Amino acid sequence: MVTLHNLGYPRIGARRELKFGLESYWKGESPRAALLALGAQLRQQHWQQQAGLDWVPVGDFSFYDQVLDMGFTLGHLPERIQGFAGDVLDNYFRLARGRSAGKPPQAQQAEHQGCCGGCGGSSHSDSDGEVMAGEMTKWFDTNYHYIVPEFNAQTTFTLDASRLLAQLAEAQAQGVRTKPVLIGPVTYLALGKAKDGSDKLALLDRLLPVYAQLLDTLAAQGVTWVQIDEPILATELDADWQHAFTSAYHQLKSCRVQILLASYFGPLLDNKYLAANLPVAGLHVDAVTGRDDVLALLGLLPAHKVLSLGVIDGRNIWKTDLNALLDWLEPLAARLGERLWLAPSCSLLHVPMDLESEQQLDPEVHHWLAFARQKLIELQLLGQALRQGRPAVAAALAANAAALAARRSSPRVHRPEVQAAVAAITAELGQRHSPYAQRSAVQAQALKLPPYPTTTIGSFPQTPDIRRARSDFKAGRLDAASYQAAMQAEIAHSVRVQEELGLDVLVHGEAERNDMVEYFGEQLGGYAFSQFGWVQSYGSRCVKPPIVFGDITRPQPMTLDWIAYAQSLTDKPMKGMLTGPVTLLNWSFVRDDQPRRSTCLQLALAIRAEVQDLERAGVKIIQIDEAALREGLPLRRTQWPDYLDWAVQAFRIAANGVGDATQIHTHMCYSEFNDIIAAIARMDADVITIETSRSQMELLDAFEHFAYPNAIGPGVYDIHSPNIPSQAGMVQLLRQASERIAANQLWVNPDCGLKTRQWSEVLPALRAMVAAAQALRAA
Ligand code: GLN
Ligand code: ZN
Repeated sequence: MVTLHNLGYPRIGARRELKFGLESYWKGESPRAALLALGAQLRQQHWQQQAGLDWVPVGDFSFYDQVLDMGFTLGHLPERIQGFAGDVLDNYFRLARGRSAGKPPQAQQAEHQGCCGGCGGSSHSDSDGEVMAGEMTKWFDTNYHYIVPEFNAQTTFTLDASRLLAQLAEAQAQGVRTKPVLIGPVTYLALGKAKDGSDKLALLDRLLPVYAQLLDTLAAQGVTWVQIDEPILATELDADWQHAFTSAYHQLKSCRVQILLASYFGPLLDNKYLAANLPVAGLHVDAVTGRDDVLALLGLLPAHKVLSLGVIDGRNIWKTDLNALLDWLEPLAARLGERLWLAPSCSLLHVPMDLESEQQLDPEVHHWLAFARQKLIELQLLGQALRQGRPAVAAALAANAAALAARRSSPRVHRPEVQAAVAAITAELGQRHSPYAQRSAVQAQALKLPPYPTTTIGSFPQTPDIRRARSDFKAGRLDAASYQAAMQAEIAHSVRVQEELGLDVLVHGEAERNDMVEYFGEQLGGYAFSQFGWVQSYGSRCVKPPIVFGDITRPQPMTLDWIAYAQSLTDKPMKGMLTGPVTLLNWSFVRDDQPRRSTCLQLALAIRAEVQDLERAGVKIIQIDEAALREGLPLRRTQWPDYLDWAVQAFRIAANGVGDATQIHTHMCYSEFNDIIAAIARMDADVITIETSRSQMELLDAFEHFAYPNAIGPGVYDIHSPNIPSQAGMVQLLRQASERIAANQLWVNPDCGLKTRQWSEVLPALRAMVAAAQALRAA
């Protein structure tokens, strides 16, 4: 008989209870006991929601981050958080966010709010002398960010199983059939950073005894199965890392629990030989992306091992085609018998919690979706159909088939004119009329900008007044005319400020946008929005990705009126400001019924139309933000070129339908562009503004061997910090830049948009930035 289980559940709560509980605790507004009680209550609710399964995860709940939890379990903490007063939870938050609790929120926490659509903020350092928070980075190819474990050659480990044992006891007391979840030793090492450049793998021998001790401790508490997550099996592994797997699991095989080794986020491909032969009791594979692995694994897997198939997509929000899946599963079930386990492909952390919460979602689209709870119901239906035969769940299967058929044939999904436009895309569509050298001369004539031109990235401070006007308008408390007047007043204010500052290329300030993806999604056809579809990004931060359900249309211009109004107020060039197709794609839940590439090209055509409208209206500079371009990179490097090909093509289609005189800008943030700089150059934007100040212009290393062909504005100040950058510091950074990039290619701008800052910080910072540009011109 098939066994049903789950790998992990969202922990933030259907109404983001954990977020609010954490933030109130951090601010000192609620006591420790309240937070702990909230955690217990959420765990209980979540276990109840999973009660129909044979094995329910324990240990997947976290107050901040599961990788950080694992670090505490392994007794592996950086020196800088040792020796503080307080207990484990204090230290835990200290490392997570730079401080424990009970103090007023540090300025930076507030500033993280919504700095971008993707991570909800990325700066993560402390400014008032407590402790430097751990670095954050993306959890594989998801939009979840974990705290990076820090290693050095002296790192040691000692077991602290208290958190896990407490949660285990809690679950057992509630009668939950528990399966503890751990991050595996090899993945844990792979995710961390050796601060002294030492070899992380050398730590494996010190780490494994702690894992062994942990497994035996769990066994002593009555645990029979432990899920050990090793998602790096879905990435390319060199011989050393493959060897680490073999050696690790041979050392753990004498432990008194059965190990279910879990891989997810992609197919195993050539790692399946390694995975199949590790001495563990069972293997979980991502059977959504890795179906082809499964048939091969049937032959490879020793006859005593469990094969867990992750058949429900844990990364997207669509209903599963249960009948089609059963067609595939039934023969497998017959063959595997007791050895077949079924689960979602990965932890459900990456999808919203409960579709039932959605009262305002487009009803037709609602019918096609499944969030975490609904995915577990699907799993149980599959289990029942396999155990008792399909007739036992005939009605549910028929309803599922009907929903899928409705989606497949919906005229709201399929728009022949959009499909035809994508089919008609030619290489020329992504091609500017003239090469950069030629058009930059035309642009210089038209724009008459000084050397080292100054500009900003688009947004200005989102004041409480702005937020209130937007939310009043949305709720119908403010009429359209008053809203327009309020936004125009903001635009007029920011134009005046920029003129006074002496900036060369102005922006309208983005007051009308709450989010750089949502703003466009709301105006495009083919997009739907949830009310509570929150997904944890890091700590207490969540994002609510819009849902692309159908072919993308642009019924009318989306930004034209605001930009035209802004341009009417000044003789200086006003930048049109758009979000690019790749970023719209990467920060949304997207269709699973066509390749991502196709959706991206549709988005590109919609943005292209907007670009052309702006040009026709006399806008001479248009910026198309691609903040999330890097985030779409596949886990395996061998797949990078394909992604970069279509992503760059999509950008070019969006951008390049303009004449030579129109200057196209793009913007990117979150560092580490060095390895994709050639692809960035192929985007052929006339100007790119790019984050780099936090890494002290590390980006410039890329230009040692690569001559970036077009103009570039390496951000000269870190907008994530409340500190006012000094003129001298910025001059210094620009001098450093001009060693690698010709002075006539350089622009002067901040790292990113300024919407999370306050005017009192922005004004002196920009004043110093303009002065820095003037100093360089004078020299
Ligand atoms: N134009 C956007 C802004 O200025 C860019 C935001 C981003 O890069 N994340 O806010
Ligand atoms: Zn940015």
